[in-house]
Amino acid sequence: LISIRGLTKAYGTFTVLHGIDLDVAEGEVVCVIGPSGSGKSTLIRCINHLEAFQPDSTITVDGIRVAPGPALAKVRAEVGMVFQSFNLFPHMTVLKNVMIAPMRVRNTPAAEAERKARELLSRVGISEQAEKFPGQLSGGQQQRVAIARALAMEPRVLLFDEPTSALDPEMVGEVLDVMRKLAGTGVTMVIVTHEMGFARQVADRVIFMDGGRLVESGTPSDIFDNPKEARTRGFLRAVL
Ligand code: ATP
Ligand code: MG
Repeated sequence: LISIRGLTKAYGTFTVLHGIDLDVAEGEVVCVIGPSGSGKSTLIRCINHLEAFQPDSTITVDGIRVAPGPALAKVRAEVGMVFQSFNLFPHMTVLKNVMIAPMRVRNTPAAEAERKARELLSRVGISEQAEKFPGQLSGGQQQRVAIARALAMEPRVLLFDEPTSALDPEMVGEVLDVMRKLAGTGVTMVIVTHEMGFARQVADRVIFMDGGRLVESGTPSDIFDNPKEARTRGFLRAVL
């Protein structure tokens, strides 16, 4: 579903990604781990072209080439993104936040968008918060709204960039539970996370990045129990 070939990205003379190759299959859950500054966020932001990358690199999503131009809107409609900071619209109710993209981008009628939004809010366990504004919710609740909002576009892929790292510890679990449930429904997900226990439990594949390179990739057991690369072992020793 996602194919990345020779992905290279530089800020001026500083190369952040050095020729990453990665394929993500339909329904696959891939967790990306690695030290701070290793390029994890940059990698997933390139997938929907929130970051431009070197033109000789190729990324395709569902066969569509990710590049500036008219096809980009199509890619973005298929790729949902959930950020560390929830990025909700503060002046819209929770319900409206979830309804707005399908109405604007897909011309979904309001009644249909509302029905869908209420169903999604109930799926992430916050149907009773529908009429509140984001500022009236806890961080964990806001992040669950952000997930519902991403799902409202019925994306083929969901990208998560450290969705729990801005949360108070007692709220991490409720967001991970929602993500765990989603993973079980066959949604394709690429998740940058520092939650190693979650990655081990939920990932079909774990990718370890360091210094802008994809150092090692394998099943959770390959990576956590039998890492081959010294850099992977060093990182895991430091975080586990
Ligand atoms: P973290 O775990 O801290 O979120 P990360 O693995 O997501 O780190 P990135 O945010 O992808 O890392 O950053 C990779 C490298 O690119 C870092 O060295 C960072 O300083 C650099 N970088 C990121 N954004 C920019 C920018 N706008 N301009 C210049 N350098 C940048
Ligand atoms: Mg990051």
